[in-house]
Amino acid sequence: MSAPVPLIAGNWKMHGLSASLDEARAIALGCKDVSPRVVICPPSVLVHRMAQALANEPVEIGGQDAHWDDFGAFTGDVSAAMLADAGARLVILGHSERRTGYRETDEIVAKKVLAALRAGLEPIVCVGETLDERKAGRALEVVTGQVRASLPAELADKPFAVAYEPVWAIGTGLTPTIAEIEEMHRAIRASLVEKFGDHGRGMPILYGGSVKPNNAAEILKADEVGGALVGGASLKASDFLAIVQAA
Ligand code: PEP
Repeated sequence: MSAPVPLIAGNWKMHGLSASLDEARAIALGCKDVSPRVVICPPSVLVHRMAQALANEPVEIGGQDAHWDDFGAFTGDVSAAMLADAGARLVILGHSERRTGYRETDEIVAKKVLAALRAGLEPIVCVGETLDERKAGRALEVVTGQVRASLPAELADKPFAVAYEPVWAIGTGLTPTIAEIEEMHRAIRASLVEKFGDHGRGMPILYGGSVKPNNAAEILKADEVGGALVGGASLKASDFLAIVQAA
């Protein structure tokens, strides 16, 4: 089985207004001849306009979250079907800011993955340990447990990605050592193969957590790192493109 195509995804979180579409256009301009798949995940209100602005560009659009139901009385929520209708092709699910801030359990994340599949969206499922869990020596157990419980069996023949994002590395400037990243990515790979057989070998495992232009190359060449989920550094075209070019 050949190695998965690297995937570099930018998570804009709750940043971006209409004027930010120019930043997205600048990113697309720099992605004409790059080898990785490049994805921008803007706030949901920008998905449609960004998808239109980048319709003929080598950059795909993703959502940052989606409800587990397709439609219904869920004030303020956005469904996977709506994201797909607006032009998204992928969706981030189970980000730690959702797991912590909105008490999303593995069971909820798995239901959201099923909703994404119904809508034809490719899920990027986030997993990661807290600092306390790492200090207690439980990082591997916690993360592989999240992989097993957040990824439903229905992914067995569908494209998806897993993003390993240590909670303590997100937005902090801290990163695990390369050896720690490799240890975790190998463990995630083993869980994917155990669950999905050969299909689990072909799905990219992204690293996320303070990926910047100055550390991207080293992280992206680590064993079993199949790309990056980038927060802060995806907001500025020059920084994001430097990371894309490092892949
Ligand atoms: C993220 O939000 O997924 C993330 C990795 O953020 P940052 O790159 O800013 O640490």
